[in-house]
Amino acid sequence: MKLLRYIWALPNSILGLIFVPLALLTSGGMEIVDGVLEIHGGFVKWFLKHCLPFRGYVGALTLGHVVLGYNREILSVYRPHEHAHVRQYEVLGPIFLPVYLLASIWAMLRGRGAYQGNYLERRAREQQLLRKQENIET
Ligand SMILES: [Zn+2]
Repeated sequence: MKLLRYIWALPNSILGLIFVPLALLTSGGMEIVDGVLEIHGGFVKWFLKHCLPFRGYVGALTLGHVVLGYNREILSVYRPHEHAHVRQYEVLGPIFLPVYLLASIWAMLRGRGAYQGNYLERRAREQQLLRKQENIET
């Protein structure tokens, strides 16, 4: 069953896997955490800082079962949020990115901001808070 989730999300994961050689050739690193490949530093850091349409920099970005992170520390902080996105990819598979785009447009039309108001981002933030509460209780 777990294999099906990887196959279903694979088109998105392939986009993330493109960053593996680029990161390794530029002093980046990677590790597998809870079945998710996390890549950080080097070209990934540069990409997150300069190639996305956001002010400042993006700390982390999830593509299927691959998470791109600015550095190892930021990946650690954002892990619950980004792994919530991994679970969303496992549900939505190849339609995740179009759904994400439509959710951003819908949020903008409602005046909530393309990122802050995006349904998938709101759900990921809720999951992040739940994980924090679970860690406090245990
Ligand atoms: Zn997010």
